[in-house]
Amino acid sequence: MGRFDDERQEMIQLIKERGIRDRLVLESMEKVPRHIFVQDAFINRAYDDCALPIGYSQTISQPYTVALMTEALRVKPGDKVLEIGTGSGYQAAILAVMGVRVFTIERNHQLLQEARQRLDKLGLRVATRAGDGTLGWSEFKPYKGILVTAGAPTTPQPLLDQLDDGGRLVIPVGNLDEQQLHIIERKGEEFIVRKVHGFKFVPLIGKRGWSNS
Ligand code: SAM
Repeated sequence: MGRFDDERQEMIQLIKERGIRDRLVLESMEKVPRHIFVQDAFINRAYDDCALPIGYSQTISQPYTVALMTEALRVKPGDKVLEIGTGSGYQAAILAVMGVRVFTIERNHQLLQEARQRLDKLGLRVATRAGDGTLGWSEFKPYKGILVTAGAPTTPQPLLDQLDDGGRLVIPVGNLDEQQLHIIERKGEEFIVRKVHGFKFVPLIGKRGWSNS
């Protein structure tokens, strides 16, 4: 038994009670050691259902939000997923353990390096890149799923362009204080949007996001 096994089980129980049903998502969150992805000062709160600081004014998202966004993607093992905002690497790890082929972009070089080390330590294969994720990663398009883990003023067009037919893009859109989660499904050239209210993410900064001033 590991030191955090009970806490991790309680976290899973809570997100189940909040309505997460996807077996693949729940199994992955049961396996990934979230305490590796938080700063030492917060290790005892690693399995609390809240966002935590990871340095550089950024956060690791709340477990329920990670579960909800991952479930909303409806991806299966072998599918290609692009994540914008690697942060701690936790979301990328959840997807990788699900058997998804993960491509993730982070604009903060130090955060990306730390995330890379954690993913390597867990033996997870994830393609990482430093840069502006609002432009996507066209080399490996199309993606069955695109997950944006920072709040955008509008949905960046390059991400819609890089989404596969039948694929889903999950992105928080709104002002800097509050966003709605947009779950966008591509059907040919049509994009069907479903919105979930009440989220607060750090800003998506880039050419097709907020400006850095
Ligand atoms: N998914 C992360 C995790 O599991 O820890 C949480 C990410 S945090 C809420 C959002 C991240 O998006 C931050 O690390 C921030 O630096 C990054 N970010 C903001 N704008 C970005 C952009 N244009 N391209 C790539 N990363 C960006």
